[in-house]
Amino acid sequence: MKRIYLDHAATTPVDPEVVEVMIPYLTETFGNPSSIYAEGRAAKKSIEKARQQIATAINADSREIYFTASGSEADNWAIKGIAMKNKAKGKHIITSQIEHHAVLHSCEYLEKQGFEVTYLPVDEVGLISLEDLKNAIRDDTILVSIMFANNEIGTIEPIKEIGKIVKEKGIVFHTDAVQALGNIPVDVKDLNVDLLSLSAHKIYGPKGIGVLYIKKGLPIDNLIHGGAQERKKRAGTENTAEIMAFGKAAEIASEHLEENMTHMKTLRDQLIEGVLGKIPLARLNGHPEKRLPGNANFCFAYIEGESILLSLDVIGIAGSSGSACTSGSLDPSHVLLAIGLPAGVAHGSLRLTIGKSTTPEDIDYVVNNLVEIIQRLRDMSPIDADHPIDAAVFDKADHHHH
Ligand SMILES: *Cc1c(COP(=O)(O)O)cnc(C)c1O
Repeated sequence: MKRIYLDHAATTPVDPEVVEVMIPYLTETFGNPSSIYAEGRAAKKSIEKARQQIATAINADSREIYFTASGSEADNWAIKGIAMKNKAKGKHIITSQIEHHAVLHSCEYLEKQGFEVTYLPVDEVGLISLEDLKNAIRDDTILVSIMFANNEIGTIEPIKEIGKIVKEKGIVFHTDAVQALGNIPVDVKDLNVDLLSLSAHKIYGPKGIGVLYIKKGLPIDNLIHGGAQERKKRAGTENTAEIMAFGKAAEIASEHLEENMTHMKTLRDQLIEGVLGKIPLARLNGHPEKRLPGNANFCFAYIEGESILLSLDVIGIAGSSGSACTSGSLDPSHVLLAIGLPAGVAHGSLRLTIGKSTTPEDIDYVVNNLVEIIQRLRDMSPIDADHPIDAAVFDKADHHHH
């Protein structure tokens, strides 16, 4: 049976062109980039090419690009590295309640080490308030970390405006841009950021390779200690093949950004209109306009996200409930709770994320089948007292989007 993959926010298939670029570095150009003979020198030279491709994609200098083993590592490094470097100046960090767990759990770890963290709330569409941010900044604030675009509800935060406020106060600013790259323009100079995290597998590259952009001259402690790789900032023999893959994936992503954005946005809107128009008591989560071009996130009254996922899987559709990191646990998503959804409603969420290869026919198939699935699940599970539905949540959504 044909599969329709609508979970591009969890991971993407590796572009065949990217696979092509990797292969020689697993075979003939296998040398350790630190070795001085020909095999090593060739690998080192190639890595610098990939570094430049990433730098070009985000308008940085190639000397500001540091390869890591994942987006999660880049987030950990940015937060712990700045905290450790500046702990004599202050121990206060500001972030938001809707960050990826790589950021949230790094902050929680630092709290155990004596740091203080402010978790900014978000409004009902997932935006932080610039006023809240200004009010949270203190004399001992050393770091602000706010994600560029949310991986669950797709809301895009006002990073440029946040960067301006944070810069005026002389505080270090980090943004997790893992969901932004390849989906919206990312320009480190325009955004006023000091640190920015990226991951290859969200942009049609392989899993297990990330980047931390570190603005030139910014003091930061190392996270991984060992050899002198990455200009003595990140130890470990370079993952040459994956670095080359990330470089190529970033190049393809920026070359085709405009057309991909238009493609995803068209299908996303087709999906949103279809679902909200044909399914009663459905709600779109996240900002109606300031959202990732490929992201649609819904709640359906009276049913659990997991049941929808299983029914979709049976007919060949791959989607997600909350984020990949929380599926398997029965806790409602921290992001959906932060936008004010009652736990009972947050359980009914479905995230569908569109990619380069998604077609309008795919979306029609998904919408038509969802109508039936939701109806069937609702018929099967009569309303019970354990799942009271806050009708206002859905009335409001209907009011917004019809
Ligand atoms: C996927 C993701 C990460 C983690 O990246 P990995 O390379 O999978 O570790 C971090 N932040 C966001 C917003 C993500 O979507």
